[in-house]
Amino acid sequence: MIVPDTELLDLWTRAVDRTDRFTVECLTVTWDGPANRFEDWTVVSSPSVTSTAEHLLAYRLHLLRRRLYFKRCSNCGRLRQAGDMFDARLCHACASDVLGVVY
Ligand SMILES: [Zn+2]
Repeated sequence: MIVPDTELLDLWTRAVDRTDRFTVECLTVTWDGPANRFEDWTVVSSPSVTSTAEHLLAYRLHLLRRRLYFKRCSNCGRLRQAGDMFDARLCHACASDVLGVVY
């Protein structure tokens, strides 16, 4: 099942009110071996406390297009967290299907 990018916005990005400032964060993926996948929130920006909800939403939408954090697999077409990519083109699942990579 392919999840629409708009749903990924809420799954993979967030704006957090930290009283003195906002932080815009994205959920990043790291691996410790082939079976140990970790997700952690990474602060990407600290907009002004005067930022509007619309500004924060626009920034989060922009974040989904930043290849540093998210990439689209050329095989399955899904937007993936950068840590879930095998290389610049293929996600880990497609690397298994297309290249025969075994994890
Ligand atoms: Zn893929």
